[in-house]
Amino acid sequence: MAKKRRRRSSALCVCGSGESYAKCCGPYHRGEAIPETARELMRSRYSAYARGLVDYIVETTDPEGDAWQEPVVQWREEIAEFGRNMVFLGVEIVGGESDGDRATVTFLAKLERRGRDVSFEEKSQFVRRDGRWLYSCGEPLR
Ligand SMILES: [Zn+2]
Repeated sequence: MAKKRRRRSSALCVCGSGESYAKCCGPYHRGEAIPETARELMRSRYSAYARGLVDYIVETTDPEGDAWQEPVVQWREEIAEFGRNMVFLGVEIVGGESDGDRATVTFLAKLERRGRDVSFEEKSQFVRRDGRWLYSCGEPLR
């Protein structure tokens, strides 16, 4: 058991940062740290989808933004389903801006579904509330 855990924590984070999961998105997922930038939050959400961490996706979505979905029970199923069907190949940050408590991040999410490339580029809006960055909404670019 301990052996298994050690091997997992030294594996590279699926977000593609080049860091180990233990040093990259792991602390955010375990609630030991809070992403300081919208970019870090974006990466940690990508790796949360890959790991099926539905709570993390819901908790880092702005309840007042367009990305929030009701009923939440059904939304949670969709999040889990998305993660199950995809192969996560990393995320590339293409650009972004921040202005106080608002930020945009443009990224390429590299994904494969049943051997088919279903990668997509998105421009996401983030908002910081009570010191925490939250995902508000996204606009697909291709
Ligand atoms: Zn990561």
